[in-house]
Amino acid sequence: MPMNFTRSWTDEDLDRWRDTCVRFVEQELLPDDEAARKRGHVGHAVWRKAGELGLLCTDIPEEYGGGGGDFRHEAVLYEECARRGLSGWANSVHSIVAHYFLNHGTPEQRQKYLPKLASGELVGAIAMTEPGAGSDLQGIRTRAEKRDGRYVINGSKTFITNGFLAGVVLVVCKTDPTQGARGTSILIVETEGCTGFRVGRVLDKMGMKSQDTSELFFDDVVVPEANLLGGAEGQGFYQLMGDLPYERLIIGVSALACMEGAYAATLDYVRERKAFGKPIADLQNTRFKLAEVATTIQVGRAFIDRCVEQLVAGTLDTATASMAKLWGSEQQGRVLDECLQLFGGYGFMNEYLIARMYADARVQRIYGGTSEIMKEVISRAL
Ligand SMILES: Cc1cc2nc3c(=O)[nH]c(=O)nc-3n(C[C@H](O)[C@H](O)[C@H](O)COP(=O)(O)OP(=O)(O)OC[C@H]3O[C@@H](n4cnc5c(N)ncnc54)[C@H](O)[C@@H]3O)c2cc1C
Repeated sequence: MPMNFTRSWTDEDLDRWRDTCVRFVEQELLPDDEAARKRGHVGHAVWRKAGELGLLCTDIPEEYGGGGGDFRHEAVLYEECARRGLSGWANSVHSIVAHYFLNHGTPEQRQKYLPKLASGELVGAIAMTEPGAGSDLQGIRTRAEKRDGRYVINGSKTFITNGFLAGVVLVVCKTDPTQGARGTSILIVETEGCTGFRVGRVLDKMGMKSQDTSELFFDDVVVPEANLLGGAEGQGFYQLMGDLPYERLIIGVSALACMEGAYAATLDYVRERKAFGKPIADLQNTRFKLAEVATTIQVGRAFIDRCVEQLVAGTLDTATASMAKLWGSEQQGRVLDECLQLFGGYGFMNEYLIARMYADARVQRIYGGTSEIMKEVISRAL
């Protein structure tokens, strides 16, 4: 048995919830993963199944069709996917979208969209990044112009998680290009039958092969005025900043769970694999490397668990959450590299979990704000 890294925030109910999540992940996601990696997306059926089983929007109030739980319920699901290297089903981004509606939507927007996100009828995406602007979001050029009580959207987005399957996209636009951050707003675009909306390529990535990260194009897309998130123009940046601790901690939580999964898989492998007449687990280098990995996980658990507790209590600040994202993703990269090395040539083969985890880990330092941007944010709080 590999070392058991217990969470400080769990209890009997959450342990039962974890069993439910494990069943879903092992019965619905795992058997289809190979095919999903070839297709480039997980398909709509799994989203609807997750909705039926109450696995979507678990931390959204029940009055909107959500589970009425808190971030711990979400964290369990992220962990069980991450430790198995399942990165295609971006429930995290879907939850982030739900939180935009919950925290910033008008009562009508909440009523209209949250139940459909919770049931899996709509898959959610958030479109900020453009070919010419990522870290520097003030540089976006997608324009939403008000004409006759409607908005006309023109522009393009790239690297959009869930972009191919999304039924609702929150599009970050300039409503007043003369106003910088204060001229930025978020428009709600329903994709089905939407004239002028087009999904470009599902992008060919080095990892996360079953995740439909896509280009999106908006060519005179017309949406009613009621699709302005929150109903007031110029609130986009404020809305984007609002939930950063939540978004960044998701990455920290999944980074640590991925390290745990990699550690367990490596331990199994080195005990099995023999070289020079004995299991490579017996070599001092192997034991020391795994001791280092186990120590990293154990130390990380203390920090990430505290962040989870703070988030649930509503006290996690953006700088600390940025540390969780920065530290978690950087350690994940290092740990995956060390673990892969212990697999020798097999570690380089995509049929091995460790190879897929290694490739997936790389982007954790880039999306959701790069490591460099995390350091900027943290340094401002010093
Ligand atoms: C798989 C994947 C999924 C994604 N999903 C989404 C999504 O769902 N929605 C969405 O909107 N976007 C998404 N993104 C985009 C992602 O958030 C951006 O790629 C990221 O924010 C970086 O932007 P960029 O790629 O334009 O890089 P750039 O901003 O061009 O950065 C290039 C380099 O410059 C560095 N840099 C930039 N500014 C500074 C600075 N001030 N100080 C120091 N260094 C700096 C960066 O750290 C980086 O190393 C996704 C990306 C990937 C790869």
